[in-house]
Amino acid sequence: MKFINLTRRTEIGANSYYLGASGQGMILDSGMHPKFAGEEALPNWGALGDRKLAAIIVSHSHQDHIGTLPVLMRRQTQARVFMTEATSDIGNALLHNSVNVMTRQREDLGTTLYPLFTHRETDRAADRWQTCALRQPYSLAGERASANETDSITFEFFDAGHVLGSTGILVRAEGRTLFYTGDVNFDDQTIAQAAVFPEEKIDILVMECTRGDTPLPATWSRASEEQRFMNAIQDAFTRGGCVLIPVFALGKTQEVLAMLYKLRREKILDFPIYIGGLSAKISEIYDRRAQMGRRQLPRLQLLDELRPFVLNAETIHDAHTRPGRVYALSSGMMTVKTLSNIFAQRVVDQPRHSVFFVGYADPASPAGILRHAQPDQPVTLDPEQPPQHVRCHIEQFQFSAHASRESLIAYAERLAPKKIVLVHGDPPAVAWVHARLASDLPNTEVIVPTPGVELEL
Ligand SMILES: [Zn+2]
Ligand SMILES: [Zn+2]
Repeated sequence: MKFINLTRRTEIGANSYYLGASGQGMILDSGMHPKFAGEEALPNWGALGDRKLAAIIVSHSHQDHIGTLPVLMRRQTQARVFMTEATSDIGNALLHNSVNVMTRQREDLGTTLYPLFTHRETDRAADRWQTCALRQPYSLAGERASANETDSITFEFFDAGHVLGSTGILVRAEGRTLFYTGDVNFDDQTIAQAAVFPEEKIDILVMECTRGDTPLPATWSRASEEQRFMNAIQDAFTRGGCVLIPVFALGKTQEVLAMLYKLRREKILDFPIYIGGLSAKISEIYDRRAQMGRRQLPRLQLLDELRPFVLNAETIHDAHTRPGRVYALSSGMMTVKTLSNIFAQRVVDQPRHSVFFVGYADPASPAGILRHAQPDQPVTLDPEQPPQHVRCHIEQFQFSAHASRESLIAYAERLAPKKIVLVHGDPPAVAWVHARLASDLPNTEVIVPTPGVELEL
């Protein structure tokens, strides 16, 4: 099998991976880089040369995995496109939102490249997506296949326990098996149930490393972390402050809403909650699909139960920092001009308010900078605004949607495949996982794929 890492650096950026076997090619994921704009935000598809793809397979609908799909489909009009039904529903909402964001950026960035695709193109692209069931092999022609077929390529989706619709992808070709984890969580979250992944007969494992540089504290448990979270909200309210939680619109918003629902149900705390417009749309999809597939709290209808107030790109400018309220706003990395970034500028120099970080943020993003800022240190959340001194309370909570590095290592060691390819991690995270697996699995070749270079696996 041939493999090309189509990200531009060893990083969590615009995820996209080429796989070639039996004279056919496919791409796993088509992400958009959260930090860059224009061409730099796209995967490095130049490394494909003139290869024509038979298929594009999408693991889940976070921006860094699906954000450039209409562009790739325009370049590869013959390729069939596959994903789960939930990923298709969410991806559709997310890509249309992305058109709106890029249209606003067009002026700010002064680029005529934006938007990279239109609403109409997104609709046409979505019409070509084929949705697939979990645990069912399909041929690249989109037909149900048998797992024992040896003369053609098949793929199969497995529940990745990361966000609604998320999957790992098993590819069978040339008598061998390659498993791509996508983004995975091996533990239950408040809504998402832990991944159910293949436990044997994998020759090549392509594995994410997001939390490779974050050790799990020995005393960590989800229950004690939820307790600490609740106490911190109460403390902020007692000080007369509000709480800002920067969250991804997909996944983390719904997990936070479900945690706040539990506080309400147990009559511990009840207070108004604010979320963004895209988060509300995606929560609607969670609610609609609540009884389909695996999840916890299947009867919980987030929007009906919590009745969150919805802020958008216009109303955020008039939103006040009201005491006794929680603002769970996207983006999770507090990207400039997003709701969480604009709101954070009102909170950060006010000692009574709190900012809670509950998941991954790129270290160079505004969220990454703020979470590690010292009290009174000046920070720049938006380069067009003067720096501000950090006077609010900053708290970190471990509610990641990604597998702990300990559980990644345990999974890789249970499979003990012939080869492991490490992707989706910042360099220190990838380096830690690489060193650990190389020493624990001496018979396995552990590879950090150089971006743009074809490997024979
Ligand atoms: Zn993800
Ligand atoms: Zn990701």
